[in-house]
Amino acid sequence: MIPPTPQQPREITGHTRVTGVSGHTRVTAVTGHTRVTGVTGHTRVTGVIGWPVEHSVSPAMHNAAYAALGLDWCYLPFPVPPDSLPEAIAGVRALGLAGVNVTVPHKEALLPLMDELTPAAAAVGAANTVIVQDARLIGHNTDAGGFLRALREAGCEPVGIPALVLGAGGAARAVVYALLDAGAEVTILNRTVARAVALVRDLSRGVDGAVGAAPLGLDALRALAPRARLVVNATSVGMWRAGGAEADGSPWPEALPFPVDALAYDLVYNPRETAFMRQARAVGARAINGLGMLVHQGAEAFERWTGVAAPVDVMAQACARALGGG
Ligand code: NAP
Repeated sequence: MIPPTPQQPREITGHTRVTGVSGHTRVTAVTGHTRVTGVTGHTRVTGVIGWPVEHSVSPAMHNAAYAALGLDWCYLPFPVPPDSLPEAIAGVRALGLAGVNVTVPHKEALLPLMDELTPAAAAVGAANTVIVQDARLIGHNTDAGGFLRALREAGCEPVGIPALVLGAGGAARAVVYALLDAGAEVTILNRTVARAVALVRDLSRGVDGAVGAAPLGLDALRALAPRARLVVNATSVGMWRAGGAEADGSPWPEALPFPVDALAYDLVYNPRETAFMRQARAVGARAINGLGMLVHQGAEAFERWTGVAAPVDVMAQACARALGGG
């Protein structure tokens, strides 16, 4: 018999092509030196479905976590165009995957493909995690819990506080749900105010709590800012784009000083310090970026799949390295 040719350890990133992974392939985390495990017939497979998925840092984050705990698990990127989502989800079940994350643009289209939704996914109207249990597909939303864990880690307990959420897109839905569920008093401000109103209507059905809507502009913010104890940037303004097109923008108006007693929480994590965060820090207010949310949404998915406490510090370091800076 011809012995198998040993293969070099290799990294799994959002760019990794998953063909060619054989029973002899060694998988390493994106650190370049941490070996996760050899992939064998026993290896549990997870991954992320997105379109595009090349820039996802989730493979680096999860493979580093599996490696740190010595789990025989791996996490792969699956580029799936919108039309192919139903087939891809059928494949998750048919191929015996332990679970997957699902990212842009699939988070809402995923819901009707699930056998069951958790209360968080049903209330938010979007899911980012599929858990496979006895061949049943359970759709869950860990963005909401991830946001909340990172908020509390920053020393902010949301019960009873007036909070402003700037934006009414997919991320804002999870944030508003999480804040209402935790007992905050929320106002959603959006450039397209009708979208904020629709979000209030949708979430009022799923969760109790005080929530209102307003246009994202100087007048409304001037009225609301003095009471605010938390301001979340859930718009995509300030996010790095190819060419740096919007990296300097902020949804907070230049003409209005940021409220000094409020925590500025930017969901953007690339760049690490945004113009919104600098506006807050300029008046002495505290500011955090979206890296903690990214890590904690991954940690919650990890725990749902494996049943093991996630190594959060390892995941944070892997994310920081994958984003180029840690
Ligand atoms: P989305 O669904 O496309 O929503 C974008 C939001 O930004 C909308 O409310 C939109 O307002 C607003 N917006 C866009 N351009 C604007 C401008 N020039 N001025 C004012 N408002 C503007 O995006 P998403 O999925 O919610 O993501 C939003 C941000 O959250 C992104 O930066 C994303 O990277 C980040 N995020 C972070 C995490 C994390 O783990 N940290 C997780 C999810 C998302 P209109 O309705 O008026 O268009």
